[in-house]
Amino acid sequence: EINLSNLTKRFGDVVAVNDLDLEIEDGEFLVLVGPSGCGKSTTLRCVAGLETPSSGQIRFDETDVTYRVPQNRDVAMVFQDYALYPHMTVRENMKFGLEEEPDYTDEEREERVESVADLLDIPDLLDRKPGELSGGQQQRVALGRAIVRDPSVFLMDEPLSNLDAKLRATMRMELQHLQEDLGVTTVYVTHDQTEAMTMSDRMAVMNDGELQQVGEPLDLYHAPANLFVAEFLGEPN
Ligand code: ATP
Ligand code: MG
Repeated sequence: EINLSNLTKRFGDVVAVNDLDLEIEDGEFLVLVGPSGCGKSTTLRCVAGLETPSSGQIRFDETDVTYRVPQNRDVAMVFQDYALYPHMTVRENMKFGLEEEPDYTDEEREERVESVADLLDIPDLLDRKPGELSGGQQQRVALGRAIVRDPSVFLMDEPLSNLDAKLRATMRMELQHLQEDLGVTTVYVTHDQTEAMTMSDRMAVMNDGELQQVGEPLDLYHAPANLFVAEFLGEPN
């Protein structure tokens, strides 16, 4: 599991994440929600190793990874701006995810990319460049690049927010199936209440850098821990 204890991240005077304790079970799909600026991305970036916490500890299983670089964390990230390499083909973009896997031969990398492309229904896009793809297709490539590495943890920061409603609904289902099939532990940040409700095993609500409540979505609706959670979940979005 992933264990965050007393996690704090300051940027100058701003306390982006304040003394956060959270445990994420193996195979769990945890959705992190809260208003803009409450610290969701910062929390995720700390788990990914893209930010160094000001204090506190991050453990993967029993291993302290607080000061490890991202490459040594067995995580894959999918962020809002997919950051595909524009000059590379889809195939090369996806293979890039395997660059740091010394165990693979080039042939095995190729096979791996093709099997993941099949899984995401994009085998016919492999030789195109990102600029020749729709937003949803780019999204799937970004996801593919994360999946080829077969990580034990997926970190996703509003990965569907650039898509229209219809595509978002489709991708939401695909993501969910994928996550169930692969059994990957997932931390997923979203502004979308429907996404949070339908995808999550548990939801974590943050406000102002602090964790307000964590639990199954229906439990949070029925028994919000405080006024903030009640109002936040009650808001249509
Ligand atoms: P949003 O929903 O808008 O993406 P968020 O919950 O992801 O918001 P964060 O990006 O984690 O919020 O930001 C939390 C706080 O930390 C904000 O006040 C933000 O301005 C501040 N912050 C984040 N990154 C930095 C940085 N690199 N330097 C200074 N302040 C930062
Ligand atoms: Mg954010």
